[in-house]
Amino acid sequence: MTSGSDLRERFAASLMPNYGVPPVALTLGRGCEVYDADGRQYLDLIAGIAVSSLGHGHPALVNAVARQAATLAHTSNLFVHEREVELAERLVELVGGDAKVFFANSGTEANEAALKLVKRAAGPGRHYFVASDRGFHGRTSGALALTGKDAIREPFGPFGMDVRFVPHGDLDALAEAVDEHCVAVFTEPTQGEAGVVPAPEGYLAGVRRVCDDTGAAFVLDEIQSGIGRTGRWFAHQAEEDVRPDVLTLAKGLGGGLPIGACVGLGRYADAFDRGDHGSTFGGNPVACAAALAVIDTIENEGLLAHTAVVGDLLAEQIDALDHPLLAGQRGSGLWRALELTAPHAAHVQEQAAVRGFLVNAVAPDAVRIAPPLVITPEEIGLFIEALPTILDAAEAAATKEQ
Ligand SMILES: *Cc1c(COP(=O)(O)O)cnc(C)c1O
Repeated sequence: MTSGSDLRERFAASLMPNYGVPPVALTLGRGCEVYDADGRQYLDLIAGIAVSSLGHGHPALVNAVARQAATLAHTSNLFVHEREVELAERLVELVGGDAKVFFANSGTEANEAALKLVKRAAGPGRHYFVASDRGFHGRTSGALALTGKDAIREPFGPFGMDVRFVPHGDLDALAEAVDEHCVAVFTEPTQGEAGVVPAPEGYLAGVRRVCDDTGAAFVLDEIQSGIGRTGRWFAHQAEEDVRPDVLTLAKGLGGGLPIGACVGLGRYADAFDRGDHGSTFGGNPVACAAALAVIDTIENEGLLAHTAVVGDLLAEQIDALDHPLLAGQRGSGLWRALELTAPHAAHVQEQAAVRGFLVNAVAPDAVRIAPPLVITPEEIGLFIEALPTILDAAEAAATKEQ
């Protein structure tokens, strides 16, 4: 078999340098365990960035994908197929009815659809957007224009869009920024790529109010937070009576198969005219079959409650640790960040991998944990047991570097 170092060399020679060369080459996954090209085993605590919600090789997903691929793998949007209709019906049900769905193939495309949808729905005189500092909505030009991480946006502008950024969670700043000329507010319930940073309680209800007062559309990006990650179908369901106008989904929805969805609620359900938008692969039968298997399995295996319980357990056990590099944790459900007292997250990620745990240095001082939703308390326990040693080793590595 090809070794990890060999693969990494070939990667460097044949793939563009935008990712750098990832340190680990994975070949196989079973449940919450993955194996690298050199046969080393890891506990997967990142799930391909909150994507592999059922873990790896879950029979429900494997069977659904295999069956659909063998039956009809692709139709294009020239033809109707049952999986796409079923999945749209399920999503409409999960958001509480009175909604319609557009299927894309990724998160950024779901947001591009949302962007066009709210432009279509906006009356004359609306010409600017409001989004959050440090927010993340994707890498294609429209979604990137709305992304508040300056370092990844600024080199690629201008985008031909007037986007005004406000501090995430600051309702006064939002109310100040949004008036009757605003097309839409784009925001996340918790900012995943910024380091799993939650907004203050009541923030989404406040966004709803500001949008109601001004007629701006409320676009909620639940690409990372949706489909069970926080212990609810959608993170915004933690706040009573909060309904966005447009909801975007991807990541965990397909359980590892590429799919995105833009859900228009209320009057946004029918805002597109015929011909306004499209995607050759969007709503692909195999991806839809995978997403249906994910939703069914979350229901059948009680994974929402499981995620809430195991997520709380993870948080309690982190909180109970006393280590000079660890300030605490934040997040909800199985979507957390270890807060560090120093910018050593990259060292923590590296030292965790050496000891058989995959985590993600999402920010210099934050380590993201987003395991498959099927992870057990025993598996969480293995990580907690190893964490003090990992943090010691990270501190030592950081000291050596200085
Ligand atoms: C990952 C992510 C995206 C972009 O999704 P891609 O599938 O990578 O295009 C957009 N918004 C949020 C909140 C995300 O976490």
